[in-house]
Amino acid sequence: MLSIDLTGKVALVTGSTRGIGRAIAGTLTECGARVAVVGRDLATAQAVAAEIPGAIGFACDVSVPADIVALVQGVEEAFGSLDILVNNAGITRDNLMLRMKDDDWDAVLDANLRSAFVAIRSASRGMMKRRWGRIVNITSVVGLMGNKGQANYAASKAGLIGLTKSVAKELASRNILCNAVAPGFIETDMTAAMTPEARAAMQGEIPLERLGAPADVARAVAFLCSDSAAYITGQVLVVDGGLAM
Ligand code: NDP
Repeated sequence: MLSIDLTGKVALVTGSTRGIGRAIAGTLTECGARVAVVGRDLATAQAVAAEIPGAIGFACDVSVPADIVALVQGVEEAFGSLDILVNNAGITRDNLMLRMKDDDWDAVLDANLRSAFVAIRSASRGMMKRRWGRIVNITSVVGLMGNKGQANYAASKAGLIGLTKSVAKELASRNILCNAVAPGFIETDMTAAMTPEARAAMQGEIPLERLGAPADVARAVAFLCSDSAAYITGQVLVVDGGLAM
């Protein structure tokens, strides 16, 4: 029987107070890992961590590189290790490209892309010493397809794919695997703002005829962290009900 056993592993999941990140934190815990829950507000992160056995909450604004360095240090000190890094935190600041402000570009690239680079650079040092690591970057089908009104977001998510493949090549010899998961449309706060019409139109484009659930993405992440995926690195696993085919 195929089962995912992450007993003894420590996982850091950015943006895990809600949505997809919260589901990933819960699923990795069910597989036996101990998890660092991260959001911008410490009280919120601690409240979410209290719902997850063995979890600890941390505050970190992933847009701030020094915050990420401190977060990785804090997790390694608190748990004694850091084996699994899931770069999940992400934001949108949508606008048509001609109207998009430089600030909107910078905010999205800093939160979605630079954050992952800094977290990987910080977390990989310990993984290299321990000769074991799993890094999963949450990108998006928008990074593969582009999207009107999301030039900044699509660029950040496409950038994550190039980062994933480069890191996979650099760290493979140390038994550190780096993959990306590309969700389609998933029911979270991020997609709750859609109008009923936009939602219906989107649903019509999805061959499996439903929006995804955070758990659909979380299971894919857990698989990529498992021994069953030990020969998979530098890949983009699309979890979208067939949308981007
Ligand atoms: P939500 O908006 O529901 O949750 C975002 C999470 O990220 C929250 O936990 C939030 O925590 C955290 N976060 C946001 N900004 C920061 C920051 N600067 N520093 C630290 N944490 C931050 O998003 P989703 O769950 O929908 O999305 C999760 C990831 O999946 C994102 O990378 C997104 O781009 C990607 N994705 C989502 C899709 C979808 O359809 N929902 C589709 C494809 C990809 P807090 O507010 O507590 O700080």
